[in-house]
Amino acid sequence: MIIEVKGLYKKFGSNEVLKGINCSVAKNEVVCIIGPSGSGKSTFLRCMNRLEEPDSGSVVIDGIEVNEKNISKVRKEVGMVFQAFNLFPHLKVIDNVTIGAVKVKNVPKEKAIEKGMELLRKVGVGEKCNEYPGSLSGGQQQRVAIARALAMDPAVMLFDEPTSALDPEIVGEVLSVMRQLAKDGMTMVVVTHEMGFARDVADRVLFMDNGIIIEEGKPSEFFTNPKEARTREFLRSVIDKS
Ligand code: ADP
Ligand code: MG
Repeated sequence: MIIEVKGLYKKFGSNEVLKGINCSVAKNEVVCIIGPSGSGKSTFLRCMNRLEEPDSGSVVIDGIEVNEKNISKVRKEVGMVFQAFNLFPHLKVIDNVTIGAVKVKNVPKEKAIEKGMELLRKVGVGEKCNEYPGSLSGGQQQRVAIARALAMDPAVMLFDEPTSALDPEIVGEVLSVMRQLAKDGMTMVVVTHEMGFARDVADRVLFMDNGIIIEEGKPSEFFTNPKEARTREFLRSVIDKS
């Protein structure tokens, strides 16, 4: 298992947000996490690369124990894509993509640019390399953010609602990049409200509510025959909205 999470527990003040999460993800697996707002999905992802420090429990990624001491090692192995793209506005697209590899991984600048250009072309924004993020559409910026994460050559990629900030007509271009990534064999954990994506691309779907994983299964099982009442209720509410 490339990701092993055991007994993950986290509270903010008296708010218990993760109440004992156990989860493992195999190499090349795509896991989609769905669940209502406030159920702890983001906190769960953020604990996986130590953007948040859990109160107890353990996370091991690619054999590395995720703790204070190993933060920089972990960050090299875990790419993360956020809802807000978080690109550096004062850096050109290509520099956004290469800065991590150059500064953190000590990749020679030329090599980083070569790889960065390859990634930008792969996500379909090669021609934007010398522009600033502000002149790109949201979908283009998110694709740059994906390229930036990939430039670190991570063992796993975490996505936290990567399409939630995008206009509906642009969502597809980001999802199709993620689909391709999955096809290429990237190990991915994706928090999403895009049920079509989860159904088509996920090997496994997890439903989180109130800090626990209520139910998980293969999409074919999970969406057609959810076992828990809370899962059924959630699926009904998201399907009604669409
Ligand atoms: P989700 O991503 O499923 O919407 P989150 O993990 O963002 O859920 O949040 C779960 C709960 O934790 C919410 O009640 C939220 O207000 C709380 N929370 C998240 N981050 C923080 C934080 N940094 N400080 C205090 N409370 C937080
Ligand atoms: Mg969230």
